[in-house]
Amino acid sequence: MSVLTTTNEFKAYLMRRRRELTIAGEWSEDPAENARRLEADLMAMMQENNLMKTCWVATKVRAEMKDFFKVITRDRECPACGGKYYGDPAVSRRDGRELCPLCGLREALEDAGVSAEQASETITKLGS
Ligand SMILES: [Zn+2]
Repeated sequence: MSVLTTTNEFKAYLMRRRRELTIAGEWSEDPAENARRLEADLMAMMQENNLMKTCWVATKVRAEMKDFFKVITRDRECPACGGKYYGDPAVSRRDGRELCPLCGLREALEDAGVSAEQASETITKLGS
């Protein structure tokens, strides 16, 4: 198994876990506690899926995901829409600002020639 090719899957898993914990009312006010919880969940998930063939893998994944644990446990405010988001930001092609993923998508759609109205419709569908 290549750790590098599965980093995105781990990120997707952690994004899903954060949603689940929030829905279950188990998301803490303390980012450090949430980071520990997500790390423990990730390690348990890897064990269950037989991904921990060597202890080297766990060490490597922890190192790879270290920054993402910070990114996913801190809420950020999007400068374009003012909404709160977490996880990796999108980077604006226009001014390099870090946007929420939906605003990043809106820009990309507009740049691809999709009308602002159509872009909004698409984003509303994705957001729901
Ligand atoms: Zn936004």
